[in-house]
Amino acid sequence: MFAPFQHAHLDHSHRRASRISPVNPDDVEGSNSNTRADRDDNEAVVVGSTAWHTRGSAQFDFRSDFVTTPNAAMLKAIVNTTLCDDETMEDPTTNDFQEYMAGLTGHEDALLVLSGTMGNQVALRTALASPPYSILCDSRSHILRMEAGGAATLCGALIQGVVPSNGHHLTLADVKKHIALRDDIYDCPTRVISLENTLSGTVMPIRDIYEISEFARRQSPPIHMHLDGARLWEAVEANCGGPGRLVMHARRFDSVTLCFSKGLGAPLGSIIVGSKAFIKRARVMRKLLGGGMRQAGVIAAPARAAVDQIFLGGLLRNAQRVAKFISSQWVMKGGKLAQPTETNMVWLDLEAAGISGESFADIMEDAGLRAFRGRLEGRIVVHYQICGEAVYALLGVFKNILGAEDEKDLEDLGGKEEPWRGISPPVLW
Ligand SMILES: *Cc1c(COP(=O)(O)O)cnc(C)c1O
Repeated sequence: MFAPFQHAHLDHSHRRASRISPVNPDDVEGSNSNTRADRDDNEAVVVGSTAWHTRGSAQFDFRSDFVTTPNAAMLKAIVNTTLCDDETMEDPTTNDFQEYMAGLTGHEDALLVLSGTMGNQVALRTALASPPYSILCDSRSHILRMEAGGAATLCGALIQGVVPSNGHHLTLADVKKHIALRDDIYDCPTRVISLENTLSGTVMPIRDIYEISEFARRQSPPIHMHLDGARLWEAVEANCGGPGRLVMHARRFDSVTLCFSKGLGAPLGSIIVGSKAFIKRARVMRKLLGGGMRQAGVIAAPARAAVDQIFLGGLLRNAQRVAKFISSQWVMKGGKLAQPTETNMVWLDLEAAGISGESFADIMEDAGLRAFRGRLEGRIVVHYQICGEAVYALLGVFKNILGAEDEKDLEDLGGKEEPWRGISPPVLW
């Protein structure tokens, strides 16, 4: 069974959401449905076999963990949410969830947003007050490469992408070398250091985070530390998991963005955590960017189910084990990796294997699997909805590319333990 998860329970006054309420399909009846037709609708939504009740094509899709689809438990959370206005901060489900996330990350307050990009951009816009200013980040960062240049358009910020000298993650030495600290008319002072964890599936060592953060806070004025923690869950899981570790990782930053719609499988939504004053201003910036919401409980409720069930329920661990198994199979067959496999991503070095990204995507498709084309080529992302059959098919693809004689190896490594087996959550589906 899954660890029990919490969700908001609808009460008729719509005024407060209780903290813990076991999921019970019978809850739906006698909620706020007055007519027979309403009741039939509700029952059809919860009991029927819908897209919410199957993993669909996600089980064969290795493109990203964003392909995960929301499950029946998340649907139940939506059915049981309160439906009050969030712009006036009156929705108990949303308020409770924000408080819950602030608590989980060791911050004072939190703000629900629609996407990770919105979370990063709202946080940066909030942190940057008076130009000129620049943001220092890893040259591979999502905020630099994947957010349509938002920080330049929305903040007018200069973004300085730094190539990590160790090829893996930024260190204090890298930061010191590129930071603009002088109070000088020629410089564009660094006002934000934005780190990313995980970055390309790799984990930033906590020691380097501590060193950079301490340095940033010693400056006058202190440099704002932002974390793009879209996949911070994965880094925490790789560091033995648990909510205590989440606090450890998040507390070193002034603002953190976390996503619910990647490996956690919620339909949408991200959160920004920070101080009360920061979140108060971020709420204005969210509105300015068109992200103010009405009945936000429909987003907060499944997001909370996702945190409790997928992160606290330990489902990321299994996905990471499968990723490591896949990675070891590729290497055993003579393949090289472009990045180490530290969480749920395997980066195949396609060039070393003598195959183009296009041909790789073709071979994957022939095997009934999906891989990205045109970008992020050679990246295999494992998530909790990948099925065992997909893992077998992927091993077939490896064999096809690398031409290894490996039936015996496969049996030796995978046959006994079958680490991908447990990946199907039997209770849900
Ligand atoms: C996915 C992701 C985001 C946010 O992306 P959205 O698609 O806007 O939700 C931000 N940073 C990183 C590192 C991501 O992987």
